[in-house]
Amino acid sequence: MRLFVALALPEEIRWQLRLLCGGLPTGNGSVNRWVPPENFHITLRFLGEVDGRDAHYVDAALAGIRAPRFSLRLKGVDAFTSGQRVKAVYAGVEKQPALQHLHDKVESAVVRAGLPPEGQKFTPHVTLTRPKDPPIAKLQQYLVEHSLFKTAPFEVTHFTLFSSEMGSEHSVYTAQRSYALSAPQQSGAGATESSVA
Ligand code: ATP
Ligand code: MG
Repeated sequence: MRLFVALALPEEIRWQLRLLCGGLPTGNGSVNRWVPPENFHITLRFLGEVDGRDAHYVDAALAGIRAPRFSLRLKGVDAFTSGQRVKAVYAGVEKQPALQHLHDKVESAVVRAGLPPEGQKFTPHVTLTRPKDPPIAKLQQYLVEHSLFKTAPFEVTHFTLFSSEMGSEHSVYTAQRSYALSAPQQSGAGATESSVA
């Protein structure tokens, strides 16, 4: 199965993100396909296609992570580009050392489970759309219009191993297991919910 580790987002945050999903035409003038609100997330680590045995090792390694809860807020919008091509438009994440710290723990857990290292710098973000050749002026206008985007801080209490399947219009994500982060002054964190099949 295709797997990734991510932070799910509270409903009120997804609601705010939804307000960003409009006003960006594609190159051929058709309507842009935005990520549906139920799919908004912050990827910590993309795992790709993983067999059942490796999924089990990854799950066990993730369940062993001990890290504290932290608060996070989304801030700004920007785009990933490759040369002239726009790869994705995303909402940014305000700098939070605890998030980088959690990412690093997830990365070493995944490598401990036997998967190859990622090797790319972690840029936390929430993908809003992967637009098809948007006119650059329109994209710039969109980014300026939403430059003051900012959510209230929200508490990150767990991270989640998701599977991803192709849907008819969008990918369908299914939470396989969530892993709790520890509350302040509480030692230990553990896995909750059912294990990976
Ligand atoms: P779709 O592929 O249908 O547009 P999606 O990209 O959201 O949807 P997946 O491709 O399964 O679905 O990706 C799941 C998550 O992992 C997304 O956050 C995606 O950005 C991220 N991801 C996918 N491929 C990679 C990759 N090669 N490297 C890093 N992150 C990736
Ligand atoms: Mg994809």
